[in-house]
Amino acid sequence: MSGLGQADLLIDLAALVANWRQIADMVAPAEAAGVVKANGYGLGAVEVARALSGAGCRTFFVAHPVEALALRPALPADRTIFVLHGAPDAAGVALAEAGIVPVLNSLSEIAAFADLGRRMGGLAAAIQIDTGMTRLGLQAGEVEELHARPGILEGIELRLVMSHLACADEAGHGMNARQLGEFERLRRLLPAAPASLANSAGCFLGREFHFDLVRPGIALYGGRVLAKGPDRLREVVRIIARILQVHGIDTPRTVGYGASHSMLAGGRIATVAVGYADGYPRALGNRGFAVIDGFRVPVVGRVSMDLLTLDVSALPSQSTRAGQEVCILGGGVPADELAALAGTIDYELFTHLGARYRRTYLGRDA
Ligand SMILES: *Cc1c(COP(=O)(O)O)cnc(C)c1O
Repeated sequence: MSGLGQADLLIDLAALVANWRQIADMVAPAEAAGVVKANGYGLGAVEVARALSGAGCRTFFVAHPVEALALRPALPADRTIFVLHGAPDAAGVALAEAGIVPVLNSLSEIAAFADLGRRMGGLAAAIQIDTGMTRLGLQAGEVEELHARPGILEGIELRLVMSHLACADEAGHGMNARQLGEFERLRRLLPAAPASLANSAGCFLGREFHFDLVRPGIALYGGRVLAKGPDRLREVVRIIARILQVHGIDTPRTVGYGASHSMLAGGRIATVAVGYADGYPRALGNRGFAVIDGFRVPVVGRVSMDLLTLDVSALPSQSTRAGQEVCILGGGVPADELAALAGTIDYELFTHLGARYRRTYLGRDA
């Protein structure tokens, strides 16, 4: 599988669907949505959402109104798309006309959208309550005000009441129970509507966190769900790059910018055509690793814009020639482990995947 020199980014839609089914089965009778914000965590929102929809997923979440407007024509009309950032500024009309459901995050946003709803004969919306993230959503006092003045909601058909967990990946964290209690209390002050609290990790916290709808993102993409424990689902993302050149070292010398790594005579350095411009973290210089023929090899020297260098001294020379395939993500390089070496999380690795990869979707018809 060799293109015009780019590395291959392989996205396994069958694994994605299997991950969604695993979550959907686990939370039933609650419904499992699919979170496809940030271009489907970097993997292609349209491809990902179509695969999930084909498997029976009926509800999708994106962050920005423009993401929803781009996704809407790609999905059957009976699929619901929620916009987490709500309907800022002029977005309300565009969303309403496209049949997209905003998640309203403040009283003023609710008032504006309800006004539009009254003029358009009723509009669907969700309401987010802040129970501890202090990021988006109504504060307790605002929920109490809505309770006292329910007329504010006239014109809105309330589709969902939701909140978001801050510490779901740490199952024993006290925030989980506190946010659950606060969510239970505040949602009862609003008109009866389906409820949603759990992201991927929240799905693993037990039934009481599932409510009517769960909102997994990273779990679908094969990321790590819990800070501790075995809940890595099926791998979805793999990057296969190729060795451009191999340097046999016959006298001691240094590797890369800043001469940050020194090689002794007798070693071999393989140069691979992926760099930080492709989203490979520069922080992985002298820290990352790749896999060749099942063996881990270390990244040595700094990561350049378009290249990285591997110490392949320990491998036989026949498996380290120009053109040899190298797994730089997936295939023995777990995304969460590589991300941790870079001081980040797999979410960031995925959403930073660059534009130069040759993207191939596998298992499209699964
Ligand atoms: C991103 C996001 C999710 C999905 O989170 P994961 O940890 O990827 O499962 C769910 N709900 C909200 C509000 C989000 O912003």
